[in-house]
Amino acid sequence: MEQKFQELKKRLIEVSDLESAAGLLFWDQSTYMPAGGAGVRARQMAALERLSHEKFIDPTVGELLAELRPYEESLPFDSDEASLIRVSRRKYERAVKVPAEFMARLVQHTSESYHAWTTARPANDFKAVRPYLEKTLDLSRELAEFFPGYVHIADPLIDFSDYGMKALEIRNIFSRLREELVPIVEAICSQPLADDTCLRQQFPKDRQLAFACDVVKDFGFDFQRGRCDETAHPFEIRFGHGDVRITTRVQEDFLAEAIFSTLHEAGHAMYEQGINPIFDGTPAGHGTSAGVHESQSRLWENLVGRSRGFWQHYFPRLQQVFPEQLGSVSLDTFYRAINRVERTLIRTDADEVTYNLHVMIRFDLSLDMLEGNLAISDMPDAWRQRYKSDLGIEPPDDKDGVLQDVHWFHGTIGGSFQGYTLGNILNAQFYDKALAVHPEIDSEISQGKFDTLHNWLRENIYYHGSKYTSNELIQRVTGGPLNIDPYIDYLRSKFGQLYTL
Ligand code: ZN
Repeated sequence: MEQKFQELKKRLIEVSDLESAAGLLFWDQSTYMPAGGAGVRARQMAALERLSHEKFIDPTVGELLAELRPYEESLPFDSDEASLIRVSRRKYERAVKVPAEFMARLVQHTSESYHAWTTARPANDFKAVRPYLEKTLDLSRELAEFFPGYVHIADPLIDFSDYGMKALEIRNIFSRLREELVPIVEAICSQPLADDTCLRQQFPKDRQLAFACDVVKDFGFDFQRGRCDETAHPFEIRFGHGDVRITTRVQEDFLAEAIFSTLHEAGHAMYEQGINPIFDGTPAGHGTSAGVHESQSRLWENLVGRSRGFWQHYFPRLQQVFPEQLGSVSLDTFYRAINRVERTLIRTDADEVTYNLHVMIRFDLSLDMLEGNLAISDMPDAWRQRYKSDLGIEPPDDKDGVLQDVHWFHGTIGGSFQGYTLGNILNAQFYDKALAVHPEIDSEISQGKFDTLHNWLRENIYYHGSKYTSNELIQRVTGGPLNIDPYIDYLRSKFGQLYTL
């Protein structure tokens, strides 16, 4: 059995090596590749992805997993070996259920659809992408049907990123959250807008980057096993236990962009750097779900990085870096500026309070489409109605309305938005637990010390990789299921001090 286990691991590591090689090509494409490399790069990445997929769905992998079942069952559920086999089997079974012919059709279609979107969005032309979206909806339903036995048709699609989370449960949780959020947003937005002119000056790029890197080094991001580079759309990427990279984006005329996207991506990266190295190169060697991953990035970005305590320590340092721009700005003014709440049309620009409303609109509309209750042709109107009822504003056009996010145009409909808001809910739930065990964390943050928090997260969340599903992990860490209360309490307390609620 030991030999079969090693044989399985060897095969999984080969698959992972090919995936990492494709990932490195993607990283290069997003950072340093000359524009002329685009054509051949797409082909190279597709070739590696095809090879890794073929290797993974090889029947020998299925046979090894079947032969190892008695071994897995003889071990404790949470042993590393049993977990590695269990997580690999789940991924394998999901991969072999979808015929290669279908995958080829889906990839071909999403790439055509993406191409159409890149011109349709600037041209504000929904009609141009309508037939693509209609086909995407058909293909999304077809994909779900490879996993019969679901309760809601979105469940199999959600499983790809947030395994085990169910559409109807998420819809219930989100609608309760919405009931709480809408009045908070209304209360805040009836008051004067916070002044953020201190962030909108000229801030030289190199100094912004150096400051952000110093902060994430203090957080515990390990630069011996990672690096930070510039890109257009920031992301985090793992090539192995010893190499987890982040990318960031700088705006010289807006200070918040580089700092907070670096803090965010470092949160993702510290999760990956903290995973038990025994899982490296296997399906268990990644963060467990989109929602849990996002909880870790937002915890460092918002709960730590946008807190008053954090800036008590770092604002004087930032003033030293930018004496002309910030020398005469007070901590209070700066703190209000980085926590400004505003009704806006664009999800990616949204603040902590309004952000989830953007996500829930997309999640609900996805379910409506999959259920057959919303025709693609009615999408632009449905979008406008929801923005009016939830956020009190209406997009003047489709460009900043239904066409704004890439997700539906470069993937399936269903399964791609819930992780953002699950992450916000979870980050407060996890942080509450960390504070209950280590009440000193808050005062340590105001001294620029993060070891206690980082170690707690590593021990309780990072280290396990995908050993536990998100639901298992939440139960294990917090002693209960997903719960919106800590998040609502957090928002009420923080924004109740900034505004009258
Ligand atoms: Zn993220």
